[in-house]
Amino acid sequence: MANPFVDDAKIIREDNPFESMMQRFDEAAARLHLDPNIYKILRWPNREITFYIPVLMDDGNYQVFTAYRVQHNFARGPAKGGVRYGPDVCLDEVRALAAWMTWKCAVVNIPFGGAKGGIICEPRQMSPSELERLTRRYTAELLDFIGPERDVPAPDMNTNEQVMAWMMDTYSMHARHTVTAVVTGKPVEIGGSLGRREATGRGLLIVCNEACRKYNLDPERTRVVIQGCGNVGGVAALLMMQEGYKIVGMADLTGALYNKTGLDVKSVLGYLKEHKTVEGYVEAEHMTNEEILEMDCDILIPAATENQITSHNADRIKCRILAEGANGPTTAEADEIISEKNIYVVADILANAGGVTVSYFEWVQNRMGFYWTEAEVNSRLKHIMVNAFGDVNRFCEKYKVNTRLASYMLAIDRVAYDTHLRGIYA
Ligand code: NAD
Repeated sequence: MANPFVDDAKIIREDNPFESMMQRFDEAAARLHLDPNIYKILRWPNREITFYIPVLMDDGNYQVFTAYRVQHNFARGPAKGGVRYGPDVCLDEVRALAAWMTWKCAVVNIPFGGAKGGIICEPRQMSPSELERLTRRYTAELLDFIGPERDVPAPDMNTNEQVMAWMMDTYSMHARHTVTAVVTGKPVEIGGSLGRREATGRGLLIVCNEACRKYNLDPERTRVVIQGCGNVGGVAALLMMQEGYKIVGMADLTGALYNKTGLDVKSVLGYLKEHKTVEGYVEAEHMTNEEILEMDCDILIPAATENQITSHNADRIKCRILAEGANGPTTAEADEIISEKNIYVVADILANAGGVTVSYFEWVQNRMGFYWTEAEVNSRLKHIMVNAFGDVNRFCEKYKVNTRLASYMLAIDRVAYDTHLRGIYA
């Protein structure tokens, strides 16, 4: 069936994340022999909202920003997904990210659907008060669409705890009472969960431990390269180093560092915090972002952004295990090459699901008004990630497919079954 969003004349572009997601969806649906009616429904997002928000800038002028919220699916519960600020945000990216949230929540079996939001802006060139006004107006425009039972936003690239605090406050002002469960990823002091900040990185550590166990790799002798030093990559690097892994490569937008005897992750992150660049860091060899992805290592963790491993460089990737911290770092075209090289893939919809899992815990705690210790959060996270890892591997064996396809099949199977159980109100 033709992609509903692409007219026949348009050529599928490898770097379009929505196309990448749809190619995998179609393949997984075909392998599952999905009911044709459910297939038809799951190919479309439930709702897409595009809106234009005027914001008073510090110089006294107004600027109008383009904003999106895509609510992909509600079959298993309220939609869930982050909000991204950036100059390259576009509807196809937000659509893909929203769908990935649906599949991700289903892979780890938590009761959420999927959504994602974004605003086209240059957050680094905006003052905190401009960002606050932008965030509040974005939230106000979405009042009828978000809420603890409807759609629960969270941070993503270039948004953080502060942005979530402004969103929660704006929603609460209109509701006339405090509604903590409207967003997750809030500061702990106002309803955030302990362990949320580290959750995505910790989830990555858990699945890497499971993959190493599968291949009898000893963490102490396992060399890891991580692209991205933010909330996902930076935290994963720290936690993995503490676990004994040797972090031989780290990269951010400003460049890449390599040290075959192991980088001191704390010192790299400290340097980045101070200098905002990896340039000038002395205890490592410097290379480009492209080169670091191709270095010999046991585990490669792309934890920055989409389309980093494509048909152009997949052939030169040398890791044993590819654990995807970012959403969509590997294109559908690269999948086949990676699979032929016998690289074990922990797909994004499993590998980075630790974040949404602890977001689910945050939402649960907000609704109970009772808060767990960090140890409780981490132990529940481990339980869920280890189970999901096992579920994906069982699907691999059952259907004789690679781990990426197995992850999609597991997710689609769950969403399709729940859609069937609820029935279609038509
Ligand atoms: P972040 O903004 O905290 O950090 C992003 C990092 O990637 C920065 O170090 C930045 O310099 C680097 N980067 C960006 N573009 C790059 C490029 N082209 N080459 C090299 N480095 C680049 O963002 P984050 O929250 O860590 O998110 C990273 C990825 O993980 C995104 O794909 C996001 O959707 C995904 N993700 C995030 C979470 C979460 O809880 N934050 C959860 C699941 C998935």
